[in-house]
Amino acid sequence: MRIGTGYDVHRLVENRPLILGGVKIEHPLGLLGHSDADVLIHAIMDALLGALALGDIGKHFPDTEKAYKDCDSLLLLKKVGELVNEKNYVINNIDSTIIAQEPKLEPHMKVMVENIERTLNLSENRVSVKATTEEGLGFTGSQQGIAANAVVSLVKGELIK
Ligand code: MG
Repeated sequence: MRIGTGYDVHRLVENRPLILGGVKIEHPLGLLGHSDADVLIHAIMDALLGALALGDIGKHFPDTEKAYKDCDSLLLLKKVGELVNEKNYVINNIDSTIIAQEPKLEPHMKVMVENIERTLNLSENRVSVKATTEEGLGFTGSQQGIAANAVVSLVKGELIK
């Protein structure tokens, strides 16, 4: 069994789409970044890479690389999932939290989970996405940015049923 953690933050700005967990969410502000800035997916990718001690997403997908400009982070997650399998590990479970003051994310959670399950070929009940505010405090509270963290566990070889 191996455990990994991931954390990411992106700045909220005007004239950018808000994409979280592969879901485009209607909101006056979106996340700034080289890719689609999907902060949740980035945290999960970093947790998967961390579990394997393979560095971070900056190392695997540099933001100087034109190919990753505005790219769909789910495509990058798919590559990281393949890397996990190449190392003869499978994903046991993923738990994650999005930290955002607004918008309300509950209506989008189910689709986020389904996007992650589909991208990583995972069965039900292995992916958890939660959301919290920080009660108006700090940079998430003032809506300067959105943060996400994730924890994953990997097991060698076959999935635990
Ligand atoms: Mg990021």
